[in-house]
Amino acid sequence: MDCIFCKIASKEIPSKVVFEDEQVIAFHDISPEAPVHVLIVPKAHIASANDITGDNSHIVAHIFEVAASLAGRLGVAESGFRIVNNCGNDGGQTVGHLHFHLLGGRSLQWPPG
Ligand code: AMP
Ligand code: ZN
Repeated sequence: MDCIFCKIASKEIPSKVVFEDEQVIAFHDISPEAPVHVLIVPKAHIASANDITGDNSHIVAHIFEVAASLAGRLGVAESGFRIVNNCGNDGGQTVGHLHFHLLGGRSLQWPPG
């Protein structure tokens, strides 16, 4: 499948990996919006949050566990951070493989535009 995050997960495309296990890979966003901007991605192809079901939702719990651990390692656990999923056109999703942004290291605006 012609999916950039599947290719990153299989190392066909290089990325700056900060964490990896059997289920997920986390890497620095190529166009960071904050001093800490990591993408946490299931290795299995799931197109978007619309495709989370009882069969695969365990991966989302695991991603949040990884995010908490990475926030500590990357030094933003105390200062705070944001975990974001963009879904579909109105949500601003540009890559059609489920991913969660971990953003921190500066004060983030709310609400988003
Ligand atoms: P979204 O707009 O939520 O779909 O987020 C997609 C994110 O993927 C954007 O923040 C991009 O900067 C990022 N991105 C796209 N291609 C790559 C890549 N090859 N390596 C790392 N991050 C990427
Ligand atoms: Zn994919």
